[in-house]
Amino acid sequence: MKIVRDIQEMQNLCLDLRSAKKRIGFVPTMGALHKGHLSLLNTVRQHSDVSIMSIFVNPTQFVPSEDLKEYPRPFEKDCEKAEDQGCDILFYPDTGDIYPDNYMTYVTVGNITGKLEGASRPEHFTGVTTIVLKLVNIVFPHVAVFGQKDAQQALVVRRMVKDLNLPVELIIAPTIRETDGLALSSRNSYLTAEERTEAPLIYKGLNNAQQAYAEGELSAEKLLKEITTVYESATHFKAEYVAIVDAESLNAVETLFGKTLIAVACRMDRSQTRLIDNIVLGGML
Ligand code: AMP
Repeated sequence: MKIVRDIQEMQNLCLDLRSAKKRIGFVPTMGALHKGHLSLLNTVRQHSDVSIMSIFVNPTQFVPSEDLKEYPRPFEKDCEKAEDQGCDILFYPDTGDIYPDNYMTYVTVGNITGKLEGASRPEHFTGVTTIVLKLVNIVFPHVAVFGQKDAQQALVVRRMVKDLNLPVELIIAPTIRETDGLALSSRNSYLTAEERTEAPLIYKGLNNAQQAYAEGELSAEKLLKEITTVYESATHFKAEYVAIVDAESLNAVETLFGKTLIAVACRMDRSQTRLIDNIVLGGML
């Protein structure tokens, strides 16, 4: 696996790959790699000749109260994991090169970025779309893979790709979970033992709603109740939101039809870790 830090070197390398008619597959991450990230690499390898993963803890997508400084950065372990999973090139740029002192350009998707995650984390998605666009302009991928785990992020990026006519195909890959249902996340490492024991309830609530839907329940209110009943039994976390929304507009639905996203964010009481999860009913994202 080749590790590249320099932006210009990465661009030249990718332009050469394109000239040689190689199909470039790309997985952007913030590192602290787990099996969820590695599954994206696996997916991208099936759709490309050369797989590129980036590791960049993007400061512009953290709001001031968040864990930017504490965010785990186990770079050497990440390199081993990426290489074992068959990653061809790891792009690991320096923050000062991505955002030099006089940096002043941002890209913002409208409307859907103000909801769910965007409602409590203003400017988060501007940080996400800005870094994704910059990385696309450095890596020139034919295909990029994002996880359904961050469903709104994937939808926002898809919207930017469409609205700005970016020549990249997007794949949204399924959420990888622990055997007890907890969605893998780099932030799971912050949980106390008690929080970790209780955290699978986050998915249990979603799963109960999914079962009720499979049995024919189409009322958003009733599905919401399935979830909140489980969350009210938790002693170590509280739901910040449970949203049942149209999977494209992210507008709330009352009676389910078409593709529906049920997205949740929960805050743990001790570590203050914020975990998100979701399911999609009536189709795929
Ligand atoms: P992050 O490093 O958190 O920015 O995530 C990088 C990519 O990995 C994003 O596309 C995430 O949606 C995806 N991802 C994170 N956790 C999981 C998971 N448990 N399963 C699948 N993909 C994931």
